[in-house]
Amino acid sequence: MILAPVAADAPIGVYIHVPFCAHICPYCDFTTYAGKNNLVPAYVDAVVREIELRAGEAGARSAATIYLGGGTPSLLTPVQIERILAAVRTHLPVFVDAEVTMEANPNGLSPEHLSGYLQAGVNRLSIGAQTLDRRGLRTLGRQHEAEDVLVSLQAAADAGFERINLDFILGWPGQTRESWQRDLQTLVSLGDAGPDHLSLYSLIIEPGTPYADAAARGILNMPDDDATADMYEDAISILAAAGWDHYEIANWCREPGGYSRHNAVYWQHGDYLGIGAGAFGTINGKRVMNQLLPERYITDLANNVLPQSNTELLDETTARAESMMLGLRLLNDGVDAAGFAVRHGIDLDEAYGPQVAHMCELGLMERTASGVRLTQRGMMLANNVVAEFL
Ligand code: SF4
Repeated sequence: MILAPVAADAPIGVYIHVPFCAHICPYCDFTTYAGKNNLVPAYVDAVVREIELRAGEAGARSAATIYLGGGTPSLLTPVQIERILAAVRTHLPVFVDAEVTMEANPNGLSPEHLSGYLQAGVNRLSIGAQTLDRRGLRTLGRQHEAEDVLVSLQAAADAGFERINLDFILGWPGQTRESWQRDLQTLVSLGDAGPDHLSLYSLIIEPGTPYADAAARGILNMPDDDATADMYEDAISILAAAGWDHYEIANWCREPGGYSRHNAVYWQHGDYLGIGAGAFGTINGKRVMNQLLPERYITDLANNVLPQSNTELLDETTARAESMMLGLRLLNDGVDAAGFAVRHGIDLDEAYGPQVAHMCELGLMERTASGVRLTQRGMMLANNVVAEFL
């Protein structure tokens, strides 16, 4: 069970952003830069310094998860990753069994690097596969081949990683349902030799990306909403038939309880420290966003200045709405009424009784023994349901 929301003093997550990539994929709007790898050593120094400066924000609360995201954290060497993780463990109480995830691209993951990351303390990998369709990989501007995904899975398992997530994108330009079903069948056929977790995201055309430009010119052959919904339903049925647990709107785990504990901190409306250029996080109701540019981030920290570009205090109305928006993503557990009352000092029905009743009448939400959650139909219309609470 993933209780959502958690109490305000629950253990925290630590997110560390690595804003460097070998090249920029045309759909990507993350904070990441190509051609700046020369900054990596100074960036690692700056991350370590930010951890030193900001660890106190969490008070005595322990970190249950650490997540190295990007960008492409696997561009860093194991020694650099070890330095960052050592800084977290030195300045924050970290659970002995903390989940420590690192994002990686499938190409360039050598056995030596994988062993090094494991020894550095990484115990979960999240590999950006995106598709196993060769044409799709080119369309998405990826630099790896489908074989690289399978080779990296095997290499990670050989190195000793027991927890591996694969990220996939559905609804990429030109994708057919047959191609998507083939990807899913390949994944489930891997069984124990495959990933233990899948994150399947619908492609969203983000403003300012080359894809947005191509879409504006009418030259991006996007599957329509119905076709993408069909692909999502394919994922639900094929993975269910193979015994996978669809525990969150875009996430599945192969074994019960194999969920992403770091992402669960987000869905549980837990607090997390955001470290690195472009990172943001929330601790004790204060949301902090860091400078986007790695150069500025590095300079600020070299001068012992916190590299923050924006801070915001969350008001209670926003906090309650966020608890609903995030908790409803959890398909098995949904929003826990007792947890909501503890977190917000008000009963769920007092805060949202009319909205819950309306959504239940429409068959989009249902009451459970512990609270409320989306129905199967509500899952397909999750954005509309969530909008009721914002
Ligand atoms: S590898 Fe990932 S983070 Fe880097 S540009 Fe591509 S999608 Fe963005």
